Amino acid sequence: MSVAWIGLGNMGGPMAANLVAAGTAVRGHDISEAAGRAAAGQGVEVVGSVADAVRDADIVFTMLPRGEHVREVLTAPDGVLANVRPGTLVVDESTIDIDLARELHRTTTDAGARFLDAPVSGGVSGAAAGTLTIMVGGRAEDLEEARPHLEVLGGRVVHAGDAGNGQAAKIVNNMMCGVILGVTCEAAVLSKRLGLDPATFHSIAASSSGDSWVLRTWYPEKGVVESAAVNRDFEGGFSVALLHKDLGLAVNAGESTGTSLPFVTRARDAMAALVDAGQADRDCTVLVRQVDGSLDA
Ligand code: NAD
Repeated sequence: MSVAWIGLGNMGGPMAANLVAAGTAVRGHDISEAAGRAAAGQGVEVVGSVADAVRDADIVFTMLPRGEHVREVLTAPDGVLANVRPGTLVVDESTIDIDLARELHRTTTDAGARFLDAPVSGGVSGAAAGTLTIMVGGRAEDLEEARPHLEVLGGRVVHAGDAGNGQAAKIVNNMMCGVILGVTCEAAVLSKRLGLDPATFHSIAASSSGDSWVLRTWYPEKGVVESAAVNRDFEGGFSVALLHKDLGLAVNAGESTGTSLPFVTRARDAMAALVDAGQADRDCTVLVRQVDGSLDA
């Protein structure tokens, strides 16, 4: 089976590398030379265009920032759909709008190919470890074809239902993550100001009712959780820009379904303020610097 991978960034890079490590030939492309170089160092055959990456592929994965990038990469004249063999399965791992995912299912089918929306959860550390949760929307038989690869990428592969349901699950999950991030940053600052040692408070909360994936993976105090971006001055990880996008998708979904989401709206606005403060490319846990006031200093 030959695999094409478009988008070799913070998530796509380590995911493609895991397929290579499992013995799969992966031909990849990214518009960023740095991302391409890093993937080449992990054994991905990096080529100069989407068309070159997908031409002989049995299955094509995309892992791109936003919906507009996925639409462009799929539908441009030099993009995926114009260059794959008939019937090729395209698996989008990015987090994008639910309606756009459904549109791309139709566009892909009309072009004679097949599509799955298959967004992931687990962060950069989960991507590197191959322990992502992958939530899949689309036809069960297409999922079964992709499953051997998806199981290399993630410890848990779940069929969420028809076209777009993978994105629906992802957007609801990430709005929970965004709200929990907000209160976890506030907890990190408040507990320290109350005189608690950060590692001690973390170990108490991790075995109490304040526990969460965000607490265990992203706790924004240096030296407490190895995988946390605070240890790397908020480089890499899950950017403010991308969490802002996901919370905006959730707010839109709330509006289109008549669902009031005040906590999510507040979290979205906190990310918007960080974007305005020039923090868009840093990891989203930089929110802790807004809570402790040091961002303005
Ligand atoms: P990223 O910005 O690090 O990587 C995206 C890559 O796509 C970049 O290297 C960029 O150069 C490349 N790209 C953009 N346009 C392209 C094009 N036209 N052709 C080829 N390459 C192109 O982003 P990421 O953190 O890897 O996130 C990717 C997706 O995964 C997003 O939708 C994000 O919401 C989602 N996600 C991220 C995380 C995380 O923790 N970072 C976790 C779960 C899901």
